[in-house]
Amino acid sequence: MIPVIVLTGYLGAGKTSLLNRLLTRPGTRVGVIINDIGKVNVDTGLITGQVDAAESIAGGCVCCLPDSGGLDELLEKLAQPRLRLDAIIVEASGAADPLNVDRLLRFGNAKGIRPGGIIDVVDAVEHRHTVDTAALAPARFTATSLVVVNKMDRIAPEHRQETLRQISARIRESNPSVAIVPTSHAALDPDLVFDVAQGEDPTDELPLAAASRAAHDHAAAPHARAVTVRCPAPADPGALLDLLESPPATVYRLKGHAKLRLANGERRYLVNMVGRSIHLSPARPGSDPADDALVAVGMNLDEHAATAALDTALAPATEPPTPRSLTRLERRVILSNNAQAPEAGKP
Ligand SMILES: [Zn+2]
Repeated sequence: MIPVIVLTGYLGAGKTSLLNRLLTRPGTRVGVIINDIGKVNVDTGLITGQVDAAESIAGGCVCCLPDSGGLDELLEKLAQPRLRLDAIIVEASGAADPLNVDRLLRFGNAKGIRPGGIIDVVDAVEHRHTVDTAALAPARFTATSLVVVNKMDRIAPEHRQETLRQISARIRESNPSVAIVPTSHAALDPDLVFDVAQGEDPTDELPLAAASRAAHDHAAAPHARAVTVRCPAPADPGALLDLLESPPATVYRLKGHAKLRLANGERRYLVNMVGRSIHLSPARPGSDPADDALVAVGMNLDEHAATAALDTALAPATEPPTPRSLTRLERRVILSNNAQAPEAGKP
């Protein structure tokens, strides 16, 4: 199941810059769907990064168009195994509301995809004049997994911290747990958002490729950090769900394989959590149980707290799970839209 990452944000906040930033990792195969309100898709021409498959929805906002402008069909087209994509990014129009986009994805019919988070790009300079103008904090952030507060470089250095604090406080009025990352030139580390290819440069061309990338990197992004905890023996489903439902504050993404103890026996699951959306499915075929582990990813990750939380969640179960834990697990698997795993909770 391929993660679908949606970029939203008011016109001019930096969605296309962010998209191009996310497309800079060689070896990672990314498909994009661009939604342009105009008849002609001008935004497609602004993509400078490496795109492995591109589609567009023109003539209106994706969440307002009849039939979502064919979004489900395009997602399924890009999810075809022969394209071997690692992620699909949807750049929504400046008019799209994250709440509507979230609903489209959760109740859509496209197969082969899972939610990869909704990233809302905010213009640090214009936010209070464009998006956040009413007495109540905008509702759009309730559906957002990550807010990128962009154009920080346009704020005088002595005011940056206070501006970020004010914008963050307003956003947290509507979504206390949302991740917020400040950027300049939309320089967000792709590692935070999806799994990027590792070992990207063959050794002999490393210096040249790295130098060419560094030259383009006029505002180097702070790096996302990660911790890994192994899962050598079946863990308790309730303990894992506790982690997924209330992860440590600095964890943006959680992924990996875990063995869970069931009423009789055990079963392995593929775990993905981004923002507040949780996806549990049967272990990927061919994955090695000896490699079972969970990885937590975040900017400014509190590595100590994350490791402790993962240790607790993956501690070998000493007793069979309670019926309540099994029911929670079963519900999560069904909510994850896994037609092929109707029997979670049974051996
Ligand atoms: Zn719309």
